Amino acid sequence: MKYYDKLIFDLSKEGRRGCSLPVRKWTAGLDELPAVLLREEAPELPQVSELDVVRHYTNLSQMNFGVDSGFYPLGSCTMKYNPKINEEIAAHPGFSGLHPLQPARTVQGALEVYRELARSLSEITGMAEFTLNPFAGAHGELTGLMVIRQYHISRGDLKRTRIIVPDSAHGTNPASAAVCGLDIVQVKSKENGLVDVEDLKPLLDDTIAGIMMTNPNTLGLFEKDIKEIAALVHECGGLLYYDGANMNPLIGKVRPGDMGFDVLHLNLHKSFSTPHGGGGPGSGPVGVAAHLVKHLPWPRVVELEDGTLDLVNENGGSCGRISGFMGNFGVILRAYTYILMLGRQNVKMVGPLAVLAANYIKESLKDCFKLPIPSVCKHEFVFDGLADQTTGVTTLDVAKRLLDYGFHAPTIYFPLLFHQAIMIEPTETESKETLDGFIDIMKHIAREASEDPDSLKTAPHTTPVRRLDETTAARQPVLKYKDIN
Ligand SMILES: *Cc1c(COP(=O)(O)O)cnc(C)c1O
Repeated sequence: MKYYDKLIFDLSKEGRRGCSLPVRKWTAGLDELPAVLLREEAPELPQVSELDVVRHYTNLSQMNFGVDSGFYPLGSCTMKYNPKINEEIAAHPGFSGLHPLQPARTVQGALEVYRELARSLSEITGMAEFTLNPFAGAHGELTGLMVIRQYHISRGDLKRTRIIVPDSAHGTNPASAAVCGLDIVQVKSKENGLVDVEDLKPLLDDTIAGIMMTNPNTLGLFEKDIKEIAALVHECGGLLYYDGANMNPLIGKVRPGDMGFDVLHLNLHKSFSTPHGGGGPGSGPVGVAAHLVKHLPWPRVVELEDGTLDLVNENGGSCGRISGFMGNFGVILRAYTYILMLGRQNVKMVGPLAVLAANYIKESLKDCFKLPIPSVCKHEFVFDGLADQTTGVTTLDVAKRLLDYGFHAPTIYFPLLFHQAIMIEPTETESKETLDGFIDIMKHIAREASEDPDSLKTAPHTTPVRRLDETTAARQPVLKYKDIN
């Protein structure tokens, strides 16, 4: 243990300061403030020098694991490399200095970026139009469902209050539907992991607002029956919602619009390379087919007759406002830069390379780990624990041991269809050497499980902190430095 490890959260020393302000200048105006606005006591803030603060945050950053420090195969999260030029563009003062209340005529460039990114996303997904206003995938889901609800209301079709969600769906799908006031109807998956069309058919009636699907689904499998599913749902008057957080493997290959989807969201912070994790920042643009454009939320960017761009704040039929302004503009800039830097030809390589990397790992490890669904996967796949299930070593142990070897753990115990799920998504940006290194270590861990299971059960051994009580950490987070003793 380094000596500052134990000090790291309690550096405060009475009277220590990071800067000194001229006393007279800052006390001069105080008597002009009404007494009710004045503090009676000084705020309780850490009292630290600038050097204390720099060391504190630099040390913390080195205790963390990021995609810039190592391989991060976190299934369902698409932890691809985020090119640094994205940051440079997002930090450009011409963008970062804008205020959201500036008149539209003074932010024509920003509005053009917004419109151009929307246009690129329309082309990539086969949708008619996009709003970039939602702040995350789940926020996009809610927005898309509000569009669907608005569509039914606008036709006087008020009975449609139920939405179908497959049992393999990402947890945000039923959650967003519930927030939107819809009742959730579950459709089962077959043995092979795909939606069971026979189970779907009897669910379809005139109370169904639509179905939420992701394709490839959360097991990384392409829903081959999507055309038939689309026809069935449309026939009963429902709409198809596409959870496009899993769009990465399809980019350049298949378009949800062509599969029959009416509404979708994308996760710019997954497929379009902007840093994510720890709750933000994100962006969940929503695309719609032509017949739903009028239900998109406002504000929206429109082109006036003289060619300038403007913002409109209302139109008939909109589902309303879902964000204060025009979304997470820094993320929009990063995604737009990413697409421009790749260019049309290279964008088409993203999906195929992501699929190749996932299948390469799957095939290389299927003798050491249990592979419940052996077919070709898309960008990710699921193991159900170790092939040898007699060792008592769990998925959690494997995940913790990976940290000792310098890899981030995959997603574990999700999806819920398997008890020992390990969900691996390598993305297209990793080299073959990195994939081989990961494969070697996973094989090594499988050997350790039979030869030295204790080294796994007590892992991790080399990280700044050992095995944590993650449930308590999430349920009772300690957010104030003062609470640490
Ligand atoms: C990540 C993810 C979401 C949610 O996206 P957030 O930006 O975290 O809200 C929804 N669906 C799927 C399939 C995802 O992988």
